[in-house]
Amino acid sequence: MNTPANGVPRRVLVTGGAGFLGSHLCERLVAAGHEVLCVDNFYTGQRANIAHLQRHPNFELLRHDVTFPLYVEVDEIYNLACPASPRHYQHDPVQTVKTSVHGAINMLGLAKRVGARILQASTSEVYGDPVEHPQPERYWGHVNPIGPRACYDEGKRCAETLFFDYRRQHGLRVKVARIFNTYGPRMRPDDGRVVSNFVVQALRGEPLTVYGDGAQTRSFCYVDDLVEALVRFMETPDDCAGPLNLGNPAECSMRELAEKIILLTGSRSRLTYRPLPANDPARRCPDIGQANEALGWQPRVELDAGLQRTIAYFAERSC
Ligand code: NAD
Ligand code: UDP
Repeated sequence: MNTPANGVPRRVLVTGGAGFLGSHLCERLVAAGHEVLCVDNFYTGQRANIAHLQRHPNFELLRHDVTFPLYVEVDEIYNLACPASPRHYQHDPVQTVKTSVHGAINMLGLAKRVGARILQASTSEVYGDPVEHPQPERYWGHVNPIGPRACYDEGKRCAETLFFDYRRQHGLRVKVARIFNTYGPRMRPDDGRVVSNFVVQALRGEPLTVYGDGAQTRSFCYVDDLVEALVRFMETPDDCAGPLNLGNPAECSMRELAEKIILLTGSRSRLTYRPLPANDPARRCPDIGQANEALGWQPRVELDAGLQRTIAYFAERSC
């Protein structure tokens, strides 16, 4: 077994551990010498994402839905369980709200019972279609509470409320990370999010589906940078609860992203324009000043380099 940086191996629960981000986090924690319990109901996660960890003596997988209580002995909890792609979280919006809200209550209840530290994977979607740009943590957001994205946005907002109420009411050691668009290997080819869609379409020589006029922006963070930030956040002193924006502030439009991916894949694909989904945020870019200060962290992987690694992943699987 490796020895963790501070010399103390911990028992760590990762909910949503078979998903895109969760599987990279499990890998990172196992490599650091911790005992990892991965909990997932495989709603969007895949066994293949964690297959390489299954034989590791420090890794355990439990099929479980976080909307039901869980009784395990752990020191730390990373609560990532929740579909993240608009296509998947809008497929069963009631279940999405339950996963965010009941899931948070169950995991906070567990943290309280066993005295664990707990980190919530919140999202830039708590800012909705932001009026303030770039978005600092003090911005309260601009969310349509009854639109098609509300099941996710409001579910995550309510989860944040619960985290801070458990902190105030029960003295829980909580950390709330507001994650901005993150991409990389192990996204599903049918995930529906823009990076995987464009890469798969470009590799197949199909038109890249740009929604709206493609002028809307996002800021894309490579998965390794994000996982580094999550792990550092968990290590911070108890008074560092966040919320902390985590993401890469390099902003780009969806048209620019499509053109870049065509260039990097050498594809002959063209762009095709589709209607903009309802309530699709026009601009999104994190102010990461607080994360930089609290974690001594900033993203290192440039968009081109991260896209090349992602393209290689999908190309290897003949997507
Ligand atoms: P993902 O869909 O790949 O992973 C989510 C995982 O949660 C999947 O393995 C899924 O099966 C599991 N899950 C869903 N509902 C569950 C339930 N009720 N019980 C147990 N497991 C359940 O998505 P991801 O991109 O890896 O996102 C992980 C977390 O990070 C999510 O909470 C998401 O909201 C958050 N996040 C991600 C991004 C991003 O850009 N990737 C941005 C903001 C926030
Ligand atoms: N998008 C697009 N084509 C696609 C998928 C998404 O133009 O095939 C756009 C989408 O409208 C949004 C942006 O890309 O403006 C990011 O979408 P994604 O679903 O990846 O994440 P989110 O909207 O949650 O940031």
